[in-house]
Amino acid sequence: MWSASPNGRVLSDRLTTENTWVKRSAKVSRRADSQKRARKRRAEIASAAPGSSDTQLLPDSAGAREEKACQSGVATHRPLMKEWLSSPIARTRHAGTADVAATGFRIDLHVHCAELSPCGRSSAEEMIEAAIRNGLEALVFTNHGKLVPERQLDFWNQRYAPFHVFNGIEVHADGDDFLVLGVLDTNIEKHPWRYAALYDFVREQGGFFILAHPYRYREVFDVDLARLCPDAIECCSTNIPPANTPRILALAEKLAVPVVCASDAHCFEHVGLWHVELARPVADERELAAALHSGHFTCVLPDTAPAPMAE
Ligand SMILES: [Zn+2]
Ligand SMILES: [Zn+2]
Repeated sequence: MWSASPNGRVLSDRLTTENTWVKRSAKVSRRADSQKRARKRRAEIASAAPGSSDTQLLPDSAGAREEKACQSGVATHRPLMKEWLSSPIARTRHAGTADVAATGFRIDLHVHCAELSPCGRSSAEEMIEAAIRNGLEALVFTNHGKLVPERQLDFWNQRYAPFHVFNGIEVHADGDDFLVLGVLDTNIEKHPWRYAALYDFVREQGGFFILAHPYRYREVFDVDLARLCPDAIECCSTNIPPANTPRILALAEKLAVPVVCASDAHCFEHVGLWHVELARPVADERELAAALHSGHFTCVLPDTAPAPMAE
């Protein structure tokens, strides 16, 4: 909570934060409008010269290329998921928690939005609405180095109830990215973080700490994961090349921590593709961290039946 921050944030800070949010939202919708116009122009060109729309991108269509990249992530991962589900490692992790399927609280633990992540392609509300359409009960915003202002979160939680929007953050430390869930102290936004300090901070605050997309940037870790072990490792997302999943599963085995699936969605098309299903509903970030610490969750992959993953 803002009020719980050692910084003792005051109202003027809140208002500044909210004004910034309004400006960011306006920027995002201007960008969405210009993308819409570009799409219309491409469609016009395509209808004038059938079959040419894929190759004849307009000179200013970087956004369109990124949109295409966003959509292709799904197709790339689908075959891997089938293969992965039948692999021996996956089978050992299917020991299962029978209580999960009965109560089902589906949540995407890794979602970005354009207002707070420079790499985000869709607005926060587009992400939330996509999650609702895709049958999720909740999502966690994990923007790069930024929590969502608390009042903004309250607004969405009222507007979209019974859907839940939770606060989280993705933090870069010593060459890797970590998802931190259940920590609302804005000191978490301070950067750069050294891994050991981040680890201690998250532990003090009772948060849940996930190593995001291992091996994405490098082949080795600069941090001693065995000594300062994360609570879980992300094994499937739009930012995990399918070829990396087997060695991520092996790393999780070695460290004896569970794996999680999450979308790492930067555009609304990806929200919820990978997600987890908790054994029972959670009402706030603290309950979410506790539920994940309990290990009673299931990983859900695209186009597959839920596969229990908890240890
Ligand atoms: Zn990003
Ligand atoms: Zn991310």
